[in-house]
Amino acid sequence: MRRAALLLLVAAALGARAEPATLRVGAVDYVSLEDGASALGLHVARSVPDSAVMLKSGSQPVARLTDHSREVDLAGLRVFLGDPVVVRSGAFYVSREDFEFKLKPRLRPELCGTPPRVPRVIALDAGHGGEDHGTENPELHTMEKAFTLDVVRRLKRMLEAAGYRVVLTRDTDVNVAKPTRSEIANVAAADVFVSVHFNSVWPDKRTTGVEVLSFPPKTQRSTDSWSLGHKDDAEPGAAPVNDFNAWNTVLAGALHRQLLSALRNGDRGEKFEHLAVLRGLKCPGALVEPAFISSASEGLALESGEYREKIAAAVCAGLNDYAAAVRALHAAEVAPPGGPAAASPSAPAAAAPVRSAPMRPPAP
Ligand SMILES: [Zn+2]
Repeated sequence: MRRAALLLLVAAALGARAEPATLRVGAVDYVSLEDGASALGLHVARSVPDSAVMLKSGSQPVARLTDHSREVDLAGLRVFLGDPVVVRSGAFYVSREDFEFKLKPRLRPELCGTPPRVPRVIALDAGHGGEDHGTENPELHTMEKAFTLDVVRRLKRMLEAAGYRVVLTRDTDVNVAKPTRSEIANVAAADVFVSVHFNSVWPDKRTTGVEVLSFPPKTQRSTDSWSLGHKDDAEPGAAPVNDFNAWNTVLAGALHRQLLSALRNGDRGEKFEHLAVLRGLKCPGALVEPAFISSASEGLALESGEYREKIAAAVCAGLNDYAAAVRALHAAEVAPPGGPAAASPSAPAAAAPVRSAPMRPPAP
């Protein structure tokens, strides 16, 4: 934190009481959590210690935020914001980017504007390949590139059985340049993109857990860039994938929840990273790291086809949840309560079932 550079400008309410109270910290715009919560139909509840607050929907806690921290508990998931929460005169503030692109998409996605396309074409990316082995477990002589391809092939089979069209960025042991991987998805007009990787912190053999990464909104930093000795890596311009900031968050959350619930191996969190494989995407995308190849237990488990099948099934379930969420948003759009159903170019009537419809796309 550069305290000397800290500028604090409390904006006057200007008579518009509906406008959330704002302030500016350095170059970052913040909005009052209290006002933001009420715009989402939620309220802020104080907790003990008073350095943290709960966001609640009625009596149900949906998020916990802590002063000075980027780490929040979002409906039971560990999520890293792009900027730290700040407290001024006892009131909590979150950056406008975090409110718009992290909290709102997860808590009230129907307020995030035009929903993305209902997924029909899914692009799957098996991390690494060829001379790029990815991470390795030198004791077990296993390589990330083999596990990513195996999981992606299993996932392809599952998704095709559910009626999706699947495009792979690689189906053999070859390396493909990262920007080419997103280009393959774009050329195929993919509606959603998932890259599969495995983590490593070798020689540490104890660390396990699920991590999910998405591309930071413009002006925000990679999560790791906040670590000591790292530089602010915010990018000056927006990337194509930034058109889907809110939906990247919805996708990341769906994948995160299903992976964690299937593997129960520890929550490493949902993080931001300026990933070259996501930058050029013209659809929502995320990168999953379901397990640690370096871990004594997960490294061994990954050698079993059964465990890799479990990982693929969890990613498939996450994609189904994402598809159901997007479909529900379109259904709400085409059939407003009390109004006649209208056609939507991105959601033909046949593809807009009611919210309780099975999590399955229409047959092609
Ligand atoms: Zn990797």
